[in-house]
Amino acid sequence: MIIFIRTDATLDQRAELRHALAAEGARGPLGTLPLGTGDVIGVDASMLTRSGRERISRMHTVDHIVSIKTPYKLANLAASKQPTRVHVGGVIFGGGGIPPIVAGPCSVETESQIIESAQAAKAAGAKMLRGGAFKPRTSPYAFQGLGVAGLKLLARAGEITGLPVVTEVMEPGMVDVVAEHAGMLQIGARNMQNYSLLVAAGYSNKPILLKRGPSSTIEEWLLAAEYILSTGNPQVVLCERGIRSFDSMTRNVLDVAAIPLVKSLTHLPVISDPSHGTGRRELVHPMSLASIAAGTDGLILEMHPRPDESLSDAAQTIDPALLQKIVKDAYALHFAMGRSNDFSCRTDNIDIVHESLPLETVGLQSK
Ligand code: PEP
Ligand code: MN
Repeated sequence: MIIFIRTDATLDQRAELRHALAAEGARGPLGTLPLGTGDVIGVDASMLTRSGRERISRMHTVDHIVSIKTPYKLANLAASKQPTRVHVGGVIFGGGGIPPIVAGPCSVETESQIIESAQAAKAAGAKMLRGGAFKPRTSPYAFQGLGVAGLKLLARAGEITGLPVVTEVMEPGMVDVVAEHAGMLQIGARNMQNYSLLVAAGYSNKPILLKRGPSSTIEEWLLAAEYILSTGNPQVVLCERGIRSFDSMTRNVLDVAAIPLVKSLTHLPVISDPSHGTGRRELVHPMSLASIAAGTDGLILEMHPRPDESLSDAAQTIDPALLQKIVKDAYALHFAMGRSNDFSCRTDNIDIVHESLPLETVGLQSK
């Protein structure tokens, strides 16, 4: 169940509620999470007796209680009165706004490569920069990333271009240093169920990009998000990046259906990664548009000034010209589908249309 807390509840009253829940046998984090217009606590109601639940619901601190059957509570759509908007600098994911496009190389390789990538990403209309400094490679012989030196180069490229950056953190002990250099932390697909990493990343209070595990069910993915939410950090963006299949023609199968499905289950934003989702650069444009049509809250794309020279994931990496085409076509489709008529919360995102494209090309009237 979800306990909605009264907005006038004091810290002492909240602590009293937590103690009362623990005394009634509730297990779990029992921390309050700010969601939508108020604070909530997620509880597994099967641990409470009927009379225990009644005692809790009569407490002054409790505004109302909503029963939820799913094992994830805080991630459930019912836990928030409005879709969660995740802010990374001026970029907003979720809430029905214009979907931001994140672009950059798979890995940070050199200073000139990441700065050139960042400038090309910005010129093409991307709003955020990606780039891995710690790389989870299938083979121990493959390029493993530049580590902390790579983080510094990425942060520098972000400063030069003004683009917020997202990068992967692979272990709990590295959360602090990654958080120092990035606006958003990425939990990679291979680590989606690394629970100590999820908790450590949650406590950083940074926005988290949570990729779906290659063999994870949607419920497992939402429960991984629940671990982060349970730390009191509501800033989680889910990322569909393809799941494993029997067919080796593509690297993964981008589960486009997961986008609207997950959005019907959770208030959290969901974005799409057609690069890892296909493993083939020629499929990135069509799958970006498919994701937009499916209602994605953003795209994350691997782009390199010279894709064939990429030290990792070259086959799925696009060049700046194709990125620009994807941005243009993605927004044209977004608007053609009648989305984003309300610009009130989206001024940060609409700017990119002004910067790189005449509004008319994407079916908009200039204001
Ligand atoms: C990446 O973003 O470069 C990456 C390794 O992604 P994933 O965890 O989805 O494989
Ligand atoms: Mn990659």
